[in-house]
Amino acid sequence: MNPQVLVVGGGPSGASSAYWLADRGVDVLLVEKKTYPREKACGDALTPRAVRQLVDMGFEFADDVHKIVGLRSYAGDVMLEMRWPEHSLYPNWGATLRRSELDGRVTGLAETRGAKVLQGIEARPIVDDGELVGVDLYGDGDDPERITPEYVVIADGSLSRFGRELGTERRRDYPFGLAVRGYWDSPKADDGYIESQLDIRDKDGRSMPGYGWVFPLGDGTVNVGAGLVSTFKGWKDINTSKILAAYVAELPDHWEIDGDPIAKPIGGKLPMSFSVGPKSGRSWVAVGDAAGAVNPFNGEGIDYGYETGRLAAGVIAEALASNDPAALAAYDQALIDEYAAYHRVARIFLSAIGNPAVMRTLVTTGMRSQTLMEWVLKVMANLLEPEEKGMVEKVYAAIEQAIDLPGIRKYKP
Ligand SMILES: Cc1cc2nc3c(=O)[nH]c(=O)nc-3n(C[C@H](O)[C@H](O)[C@H](O)COP(=O)(O)OP(=O)(O)OC[C@H]3O[C@@H](n4cnc5c(N)ncnc54)[C@H](O)[C@@H]3O)c2cc1C
Repeated sequence: MNPQVLVVGGGPSGASSAYWLADRGVDVLLVEKKTYPREKACGDALTPRAVRQLVDMGFEFADDVHKIVGLRSYAGDVMLEMRWPEHSLYPNWGATLRRSELDGRVTGLAETRGAKVLQGIEARPIVDDGELVGVDLYGDGDDPERITPEYVVIADGSLSRFGRELGTERRRDYPFGLAVRGYWDSPKADDGYIESQLDIRDKDGRSMPGYGWVFPLGDGTVNVGAGLVSTFKGWKDINTSKILAAYVAELPDHWEIDGDPIAKPIGGKLPMSFSVGPKSGRSWVAVGDAAGAVNPFNGEGIDYGYETGRLAAGVIAEALASNDPAALAAYDQALIDEYAAYHRVARIFLSAIGNPAVMRTLVTTGMRSQTLMEWVLKVMANLLEPEEKGMVEKVYAAIEQAIDLPGIRKYKP
């Protein structure tokens, strides 16, 4: 067993890497340390961008995939409902499906393309003088199997132990997210809108930093979660479980939720804005959360796992075809071309809303304008048309104008 390419991890980024490598005729092995169906702390929401990636991989949207037509956004009691926009590249719908189901199905698609998938196998790097020289695969027994693939895709998620051993690090000056989610029964789980709350209050009515969501799953249950970003004041001392408890206590009545979650909520980290690097070495590339690919505007990481996995597969296939490992550098450039400008605006946006006064003004002023908020939704879900790309800056300028507060960091192109 010595594949041309080893993919470490079977989440969205690993599954997509394996799918697109196999699609190009590369001999690829994906190893996943857990066995499907495996739990993953996630909101289980797929935006139109993610749906597009799944369609491209031939994913079957079976009856248990719940279609989502838009977003209902709350700021306290103020509410706006917005449908996903029409777009030339993306569908006008999103979806929800538990990650315990989704990830196994997408790795299954990679298998049908010719990738080999092994579950219950943990990969550990063999590093010599900073270089990756081999990988040990640990199964049930103590003795690993050592393999020497030509290239390795690091898709091991937000903690990325494999990546850290090769020297990847997270930039501390970039934003970082923490979130927790649980499942509750709800008779309204067929709702076609995902819902968010930007102004969570504790029982005494005091604003808490953070946001909350209810994502209906169409199966009698909803995914309810809460998160916060490192630009929020005092974020290190705030417990996401407390934010979730406060949010659940004040959920809108229409969900008809009462009582305890189905299982104890679980949480995780969201490395965002491509804060983790380097993104490639002589014989490896990092994708998805292992590269910090989460969108800072909305905490979305599934789609960016699929997208970065696909980009990495293309670059590795080229490196194999040209027998030139230096070709891997094209991956870093592809990420810059595709995402750098967008993430720059996102980082500034996050540092601005870390100021509670800005956040308050944004939600009270901004939420009064349906048109502005529809643009905000398009920007936050990265759904601008190719010719509208410059609009990211323009929408940000409009937000700045709407919240017109002294002392907030202005965007300078
Ligand atoms: C609470 C929460 C809510 C979220 N909600 C959403 C949402 O609604 N929509 C959205 O788009 N994003 C959401 N995200 C982000 C999203 O979950 C991640 O961005 C996404 O899972 C990243 O995919 P990945 O493939 O890079 O990593 P992961 O999904 O973490 O997959 C990594 C895989 O690698 C395996 N692995 C790790 N180490 C090894 C090893 N050494 N050998 C073999 N296998 C290994 C792990 O078991 C795991 O299966 C949320 C995140 C959190 C924490």
